[in-house]
Amino acid sequence: MEKKRILTTSKTEIDTENEKSLRPSSLKEYIGQEKIKGNMDVFISAARQREDTLDHVLFFGPPGLGKTTLAYIVAREMGVNIKVTSGPAIEKPGDLAAMLSNLSKGDILFIDEIHRMNKVVEEVLYPALEDFALDIIVGKGPGARSIRLDLPPFTLIGATTRAGLLSSPLRDRFGVICRLELYSPEELQEIIMRSAKILDVDITPQGAHELACRSRGTPRIANRILKRTRDFVQVLNMKKIDEESAKKSLDFLEVDEKGLDTNDRRMLNTIINAFGGGPVGLDTLAAAIGEEKDNIEDVYEPYLIQIGFIQRTPRGRIATRHAYEHLKIPYQEGQIENERFLL
Ligand code: ADP
Repeated sequence: MEKKRILTTSKTEIDTENEKSLRPSSLKEYIGQEKIKGNMDVFISAARQREDTLDHVLFFGPPGLGKTTLAYIVAREMGVNIKVTSGPAIEKPGDLAAMLSNLSKGDILFIDEIHRMNKVVEEVLYPALEDFALDIIVGKGPGARSIRLDLPPFTLIGATTRAGLLSSPLRDRFGVICRLELYSPEELQEIIMRSAKILDVDITPQGAHELACRSRGTPRIANRILKRTRDFVQVLNMKKIDEESAKKSLDFLEVDEKGLDTNDRRMLNTIINAFGGGPVGLDTLAAAIGEEKDNIEDVYEPYLIQIGFIQRTPRGRIATRHAYEHLKIPYQEGQIENERFLL
């Protein structure tokens, strides 16, 4: 079980350890995502100059890429308070109304997993986002009437794994929509070096590079792998994290040199062995490996697509030649033609 969890992009106990100190607190400290940082810097400066509230912002991208971190940074750089909640945590319209009416002028409301908010709650949000108003129903039955309460201007920051999961009326109410990309090994190496310094871990640049290459483009995983490797190195009485000790530790954790764990390999093996390399539909694949569809789309696929192991076609997923080579399974010429034809 322990090994299975190491590459998950969702939060585990090991991630909450030192979370506050590892989280960058300014745009300057935030590594990578240059385009978003540039844009946010301009929006923040402009809003501050006009003494205005920031437009509503949506961050989307796979888990663990730094959406929550960015929301905290925006609040800090704007010099305003931030209230944090998540879509599934807001059960009733009244819960959201209470939260909104407690905001002060310019405050930020951060809703994580905003695509999982229920529809009735979502409707309270529309007038709040557009007119800074709450429509409240007073009374019951034929005598019931709606009264409008004004809210102070505020900024909503929403986070979601995929923008396509949001209803279009909600998506349309965001003035700024930013897509976070998976990080390059160089950026992850920088993140690991920074975290190692904060955690007082002795690491060489080569050691950090080795960990970075196996972190699936995700800072949350990079920090977790760093902590696990630190423990491993300590238990085995090795002095520091260098290339050799990093490799040993990651092999022990069954994370291979491309950053794949047993789950990724099982999925690729299934596409190749059970479905002739694909195309295989998402539902069929999910049933075959006993995983949830969302998990495949949010966690497994973004990285496997980025490293060119999987292609998504209208007829389903295909394992590419690189995946065959990585798993040391002979690749038949002609399969590539098939891929081109399907794309
Ligand atoms: P998300 O909200 O997208 O799931 P988080 O904002 O919780 O992701 O980020 C997970 C962890 O990764 C954070 O606690 C932080 O330590 C680290 N992290 C994320 N983005 C960066 C970054 N750009 N630079 C340095 N560390 C980062």
